[in-house]
Amino acid sequence: MAKLEVEILTLFPRMIAGYLEESILGKARESGLLEVRISDIRDHAAGKHKVADDAPYGGGAGMVMKPEPLTEAIEAAKARLPGALVVLTSPRGERLTQPLARRFAEHGRLILACGRYEGVDERVMAAVDTEVSLGDFVLTGGELAALCVVDASARLVPGVLGNTASAEAESFAGEDGLLEHPHYTRPPEYRGMKVPEVLTSGDHRRINRWRRREALRATRDRRPDLFASLALSESDLRLIDAGDDEL
Ligand code: SAH
Repeated sequence: MAKLEVEILTLFPRMIAGYLEESILGKARESGLLEVRISDIRDHAAGKHKVADDAPYGGGAGMVMKPEPLTEAIEAAKARLPGALVVLTSPRGERLTQPLARRFAEHGRLILACGRYEGVDERVMAAVDTEVSLGDFVLTGGELAALCVVDASARLVPGVLGNTASAEAESFAGEDGLLEHPHYTRPPEYRGMKVPEVLTSGDHRRINRWRRREALRATRDRRPDLFASLALSESDLRLIDAGDDEL
């Protein structure tokens, strides 16, 4: 996983460009850890008017993306990125999760196809390896989903985050599958709310136990589904109910 190479295929390239130019992802591109090319599907549409969509067979509302422009855009991208995984954004796809982002980052080469309108002609699937969804809701297009895939995958490439440890301690990422503990920064008191005393104690053993306890509690209270799937140790089960003086 030395770097991540991505090509995004969209009918609306300008929607995507800005997000990938700023902050951590912008820096990752400058340093060569992330390479992103944004290609306009319309460049592969035929005729003077470059039409990329048409009415659905069988009738009904909306338009469907024609099979030829997107299929040919995928093929052109594959020529540039041999071995790339071709991912179509789609509400019927596999849900994007931290483990899936890790698989994408490890694969190293992705072609992300963004649907629009009512979706894409089913025959495009012959050129697609897998479909990915952000969740059980319907967007107007796949651009946000493609950006989520790039963002979540790129930050797992070693060196993209300044501190590699920070990617590992995060929600869902750890082997333990816990949500993350809360964070505090200065000032020590804000509107009467104080930073927990343990965090300013300088005692790293206690700090680690406080963080672990808070991660356990957050997962239990906010994501009982995740919590139920954990095989917790005896010491975690004791820690979750421990008071600050027992840390
Ligand atoms: N008619 C389709 C929705 C099409 S939305 C249906 O009812 O399932 C248009 C495009 O937006 C899709 O082709 C897909 O690329 C993208 N999209 C919409 N919702 C999405 C989601 N939850 N996750 C990922 N992509 C999505």
